[in-house]
Amino acid sequence: MNIHEYQAKQVLKGYGAPVADGVAITSADQAEAAAKQLPGPLYVVKSQIHAGGRGKGKFKELGADAKGGVRLAFSIEEAVAHAKEMLGNTLVTAQTGEAGKQVNRLYIEDGADIARELYCSLLVDRSVGQTAFVVSTEGGMDIEEVAHATPEKIHTIAINPEAGVTAENVAAINAALELTGDAAEDGKSLFPILYKAFVEKDMDMLEINPLIVMENGHLRVLDAKVSFDGNALYRHEDIRALRDETEEDAKEIEASKWDLAYVALDGNIGCMVNGAGLAMATMDIIKLYGKEPANFC
Ligand code: ADP
Ligand code: MG
Repeated sequence: MNIHEYQAKQVLKGYGAPVADGVAITSADQAEAAAKQLPGPLYVVKSQIHAGGRGKGKFKELGADAKGGVRLAFSIEEAVAHAKEMLGNTLVTAQTGEAGKQVNRLYIEDGADIARELYCSLLVDRSVGQTAFVVSTEGGMDIEEVAHATPEKIHTIAINPEAGVTAENVAAINAALELTGDAAEDGKSLFPILYKAFVEKDMDMLEINPLIVMENGHLRVLDAKVSFDGNALYRHEDIRALRDETEEDAKEIEASKWDLAYVALDGNIGCMVNGAGLAMATMDIIKLYGKEPANFC
């Protein structure tokens, strides 16, 4: 299950991670009051959809010259103008597919003075059977591109589940991210916090891109993308409450009510198969013959 950036930040804030103040809104009328709650003078208006690449995304209804799905505003008036232009329109990013996603919610956030943009994620690394931090100094951009062009800039630090995040682990992450001074000090608390949140909430993936070093030398979580293990949701009522069904495929929602493992796909050959291995093989055969499956079931 995926959640929105502003929800992910609330979860992380609950664990003590440094995130900016922000207010989520669903109508442009709320924009002014939301921005007034923030210190200013820099505001950021961020589309809340379950997909990344929003900053570089384009709104279908607006011209090619229009700004993307994450916009800086230098006054409350400008933040309100962005909100009016963005809400209700369809944002197409590298992760949404051509159809894009309708922006029904915005997060108006305090703007940060950014010195460096870093990449920090947590995932279950199956090759070592442990949760691992994957970090890079090359944050704020497409990490797949970094992994492809400069794989040496991606560092993986696996965490022993019995020991948790040790001082050695933190030192390794700090070194990989080239953190010094206050930022390295912040890392000592932040990295164990992220690991705790990941494990306790049964996350599948926690991606912070970018994690920033601010001009004042401190760390801040600037973006947060979190997905949870669906099989563990039964024990997290608080996380289940964050589900936004408008972001999900209606067919998948219906299937989940019946406990079916169903994934909607783009093709037109329906598959009802017994067993995941056979279902995968069936999809492979369909593709081998040049057609596209409509679903995995
Ligand atoms: P996405 O990854 O979907 O494009 P991000 O939240 O990473 O969205 O935002 C894109 C970029 O916008 C960031 O890399 C950062 O440069 C800038 N940005 C985002 N939030 C803020 C903020 N609160 N203050 C200043 N800049 C921001
Ligand atoms: Mg990002």
